[in-house]
Amino acid sequence: MEFIDLKSQYDALRAQINARIQTVLDHGQYILGPEVIELEQRLTEYTGARHCVTVASGTEALLIALMAIGIKPGDEVITTAFSFVATAEVIALLGATPVFVDIEPDTCNINPACIEEKITPHTRAIIPVSLYGQPADMDEINAIAERFGLTVIEDAAQSFGATYKGRKSCNLSTIACTSFFPSKPLGCYGDGGALFTSNEALAQSMREIRVHGQSKRYVHSRLGVGGRMDTLQCAIVLAKLERFGWEVQQRQELASLYRDLLDGYVEPTSCRSDRTSVYAQYTIAVDNRATLQAKLLEMGIPTAVHYPLPIPLQPAYLQYCREDELPVSLAMSKRVISLPMGPYMGHDDVRQVCNAVRTAVGHNTIHLGAVPVTTA
Ligand SMILES: *Cc1c(COP(=O)(O)O)cnc(C)c1O
Repeated sequence: MEFIDLKSQYDALRAQINARIQTVLDHGQYILGPEVIELEQRLTEYTGARHCVTVASGTEALLIALMAIGIKPGDEVITTAFSFVATAEVIALLGATPVFVDIEPDTCNINPACIEEKITPHTRAIIPVSLYGQPADMDEINAIAERFGLTVIEDAAQSFGATYKGRKSCNLSTIACTSFFPSKPLGCYGDGGALFTSNEALAQSMREIRVHGQSKRYVHSRLGVGGRMDTLQCAIVLAKLERFGWEVQQRQELASLYRDLLDGYVEPTSCRSDRTSVYAQYTIAVDNRATLQAKLLEMGIPTAVHYPLPIPLQPAYLQYCREDELPVSLAMSKRVISLPMGPYMGHDDVRQVCNAVRTAVGHNTIHLGAVPVTTA
């Protein structure tokens, strides 16, 4: 069994993907070609955001988002302590200070109740992450941001296709950033990403920053980056969009099967009733992770840990760390484990994983650990 099966997806879409790639090779517009425009158009229709700007990666999208709102040294940007490192990396790269907020134990998303105490006169923005594919409490976060005049940037690298109160992830805040890294729910065959906004001026800034701050050919009005997504990668995403709706449904069905079969054996991360997840990961929490991981591997089941350390405890981020303020992130980083997930897994694959997990944890039911669990 594979942790994420990209081969079956290619088999299912081979004809469409190959044809799309061939079209690009035939017209030869490798940079900002027609597929780039077409993909941006399709993604605005899908998400409901007015503008989409494709870029070189999810990380580049986050960096360009912060540059577009003018983040500079001395500024503070609030974000979650529990994410992939890129979320905080871009803040530090611009000389600003990442200010970390603890998470909710059941969703592992930023805890909105802990945000306000971190706001200072230097705070400029909040970056919530829609972790494992589920949006954070965006209404709550947007309301706080509005009261303090801050910009909200959704890190939707794992959540393209998810919804929050009926609205699509990537259209839940002033700016959103997603990633088309191959293993994300909507992936390309290399690096890629996109920014979303309904603000015309911000969209224009993002387009300029993407091409070296260029406002007209060889007129560089501002600092930018070489941050375009190439036409071939856009063509691949266009082909994959054909099955994306079905794939999201499959992920949700498999997640609900996981939930049923593991009920009482482990503690799943929960999905709130007012939103949906695209299950970029199917992540559970256990108290004896290393043992479980080793036993599963023996039974041929690969697993992964998202993430083994809160970002502020990573060596490069210790200067921003106030560990005593992040107890839930720290506890969850020791307990979370992600099981194989993907739209091309069969129900029998999920049953096999669940049987292995049940066998591994035995009758020693390990749900409810040291961290108090709150329900929606
Ligand atoms: C994957 C990921 C990113 C970075 O995306 P890349 O396309 O790999 O640069 C950023 N944030 C989160 C939460 C991610 O999962």
